[in-house]
Amino acid sequence: MKILIINAGSSSLKYQLIDMQDESVIAKGLVERIGIEGSNLSHKYGDGKKFELVTPLKDHTEAMNIVLDALQDADHGVIKSLDEIGAVGHRVLHGGEKFTASCLINDTVIAAIEENIPLGPLHNPANLMGIRACQKVLPNVPQVAVFDTAFHQTMPPKAFRYALPKKYYTELHMRKYGFHGTSHRFIASRATEILGENKKVIVCHLGNGSSLSACVNGKCVDTTMGITPLDGLVMGTRCGTLDPACVEFIANTEHKTASEVLNMMNKQSGLQGLTGSSDMRDVTARYDAGDEDAKLAIEMWTYTIQKYIGSYVAAMNGCDAIIFTAGIGENHVRARKWVCEGLSFFGVEVDDERNANVHGETKISTDDSRIQVWVIPTNEELAIARDTLEIATKK
Ligand code: ADP
Repeated sequence: MKILIINAGSSSLKYQLIDMQDESVIAKGLVERIGIEGSNLSHKYGDGKKFELVTPLKDHTEAMNIVLDALQDADHGVIKSLDEIGAVGHRVLHGGEKFTASCLINDTVIAAIEENIPLGPLHNPANLMGIRACQKVLPNVPQVAVFDTAFHQTMPPKAFRYALPKKYYTELHMRKYGFHGTSHRFIASRATEILGENKKVIVCHLGNGSSLSACVNGKCVDTTMGITPLDGLVMGTRCGTLDPACVEFIANTEHKTASEVLNMMNKQSGLQGLTGSSDMRDVTARYDAGDEDAKLAIEMWTYTIQKYIGSYVAAMNGCDAIIFTAGIGENHVRARKWVCEGLSFFGVEVDDERNANVHGETKISTDDSRIQVWVIPTNEELAIARDTLEIATKK
């Protein structure tokens, strides 16, 4: 069966068509600037071939239509007819407390995603636009929702509650939810397959957005992101954990609303705010050239990760493995080394040669290291596709 994976943003739509027979990606692409002047499609197929199109697109339904046209095109298409698409899997940001797993989309599920809009005000409406567009253009194809928050629903209350008056939890559902759940679940389950049952594992998803999760026997017991993805680590453009009073201080001083301050904390902070670039490769190049801002940014980035790893070793009362994944975690040799250098008290020992020669799933710790350290490439789209296949074909 071929499965179409959709990740809809407010003005963008990413897609992948995956052949589940061998789990290969047969086409993927991105529609950008939906509803804005200059809408365009970038479609990749075959062995690195590319088709590009600039055409006005007023909404996600029109965007879905050009994606489906591209997939079926005689020249750059990969399927003969839409009948070949067996199911659609949607990445949905916020499942709130209702969703602990992926599920078949029906009216009740749509209503629940709508209910969670206050928790995911930017993403959930966009995800719904993607779902509705697919329902229109592929009315007879099962659609599955895969939530970024679902994996973290196994956290105990002591980890997910905020120490605010109780009504903020009971009435407003304010609590830690956690994100990147599809990636954390994918890695935690690979870790269980590689290391065996009942292991304590810290998953370090370090990309532009970054989060850690503490997992016991493949289940999440804590994670760094909160009610929104702003909490936790220093990220590409997000500041991560800080004193909440900073919001009022900046709002009062600069005559801004809380939303404006939070927007700045989400989009102009982190590595971007400290150095002027959100990309770890740029920041590293500046660090190598002796730039003091870049040096401090890397120190802060590393220190925050080390502090959370230390707290998760305590939270789990032990740790069998630390796993690096995502753009920085999979590719940045020195970043892994920086993080692990500060963990020698726990008996973490990285083998420099293994760390410098990572190919796919690789153990980078020495054989004597008390905690194993691994690199495991994440694949969120494949995780979504596997869930979609399982749910869409369930009898
Ligand atoms: P997201 O999916 O959150 O947008 P990614 O997981 O793609 O982000 O990670 C992006 C980050 O990974 C960037 O900071 C980038 O610099 C870093 N990165 C990607 N490739 C490499 C590489 N080869 N070496 C070092 N860092 C890399």
